[in-house]
Amino acid sequence: MTLKQQLNDHIRDNGPMTVAEFMAACLYDPAHGYYATRPALGGAGADFITAPEASQMFGELLGLWCAHEWEALAKPAFNLIELGPGRGVLMQDALRASERIAGMHEAMHLTLVEMSAPLRDEQAKRVPEAEWALRLEDAPPGPSLIIANEFLDCLPIRQFVRGEDGWHEKLVGLDEADQLAFGLSAALPAPDSEDEIGAVREVAPALESLIYEIERRLHDAPGRALLIDYGYVRPEGADTLQALKAHAHVDPLEAPGAADLTAHVDFARVAHLAQQAGLAVHGPVTQASFLRGLGVEFRAEALARANPEHAERLARELRRLTHPEEMGALFKVICLSSPKLPPPAGF
Ligand code: SAH
Repeated sequence: MTLKQQLNDHIRDNGPMTVAEFMAACLYDPAHGYYATRPALGGAGADFITAPEASQMFGELLGLWCAHEWEALAKPAFNLIELGPGRGVLMQDALRASERIAGMHEAMHLTLVEMSAPLRDEQAKRVPEAEWALRLEDAPPGPSLIIANEFLDCLPIRQFVRGEDGWHEKLVGLDEADQLAFGLSAALPAPDSEDEIGAVREVAPALESLIYEIERRLHDAPGRALLIDYGYVRPEGADTLQALKAHAHVDPLEAPGAADLTAHVDFARVAHLAQQAGLAVHGPVTQASFLRGLGVEFRAEALARANPEHAERLARELRRLTHPEEMGALFKVICLSSPKLPPPAGF
């Protein structure tokens, strides 16, 4: 039975599901979910290309960022934790770049938090020395540097739509032809707001739990979390749920489990939750500003000088990472830190 049929039956028996439940099924269903069966990032046939897949400079600079922050922590024994490492390219580049930092790798315990079995296999090819965990909670205690690129956007969202008579939750149900279709709940008993009719608000419960977990870890022992993703700082009241297959946007209801489903990250909410929890918050800044702060332009120049035959490719990669019409502006970087640490590099 396909996931689509399964969801159909589920809705017929139990009524419409929230967008978050739908996303979780599409991404994480153990038999048919996108990440369980066919995650395609990077390489031929990819559904989407992430920054570390676009350029080695991205992972290298994050590796040097980690080295800088390990020094800021006074070089303790520490956990380097990556959430959602994809094919392991970022970590491989980060480890290569930080190899020569005296004592760092000896002090480091590496944990990759990954739920996808095929991606764990890919990661093991590139970073055989890692240990794996299913959730951040399962990483060992102690000082931690946590990094995550394009992880938060996978966490399921609920959506609320402003109608004539108030707010409604967006739901996935069945239409007259028994096909999956978006619909709305009855109006919620929520106060009126200034939002226009048709405005959409998104809430990400799993993201909120993750922030609480980061907070617990960074209060138990010193450390930082560097979170990079596409997202917004001021919500525009728009629907950001998107399904990507072979680099093209497709209908999220079309083929559940076959496309990557994501939503933009609400960085103002992340910052607010972290601040309320007593963490220090730096950013969000744009990816361009962060990478320039870490010297991406000098890195590109140095690589081009050493490999003149690759100069054009490196210029393209630099543009890809930093140009506002590419990843430079939509992608944001935020750093959450234990209290009383010096400011992190890049902000
Ligand atoms: N960071 C990588 C991959 C981004 S894709 C890169 O930049 O290329 C998202 C990654 O998060 C994948 O590795 C996916 O399997 C993992 N992932 C998504 N949701 C997850 C969850 N709830 N728990 C653990 N890993 C998850």
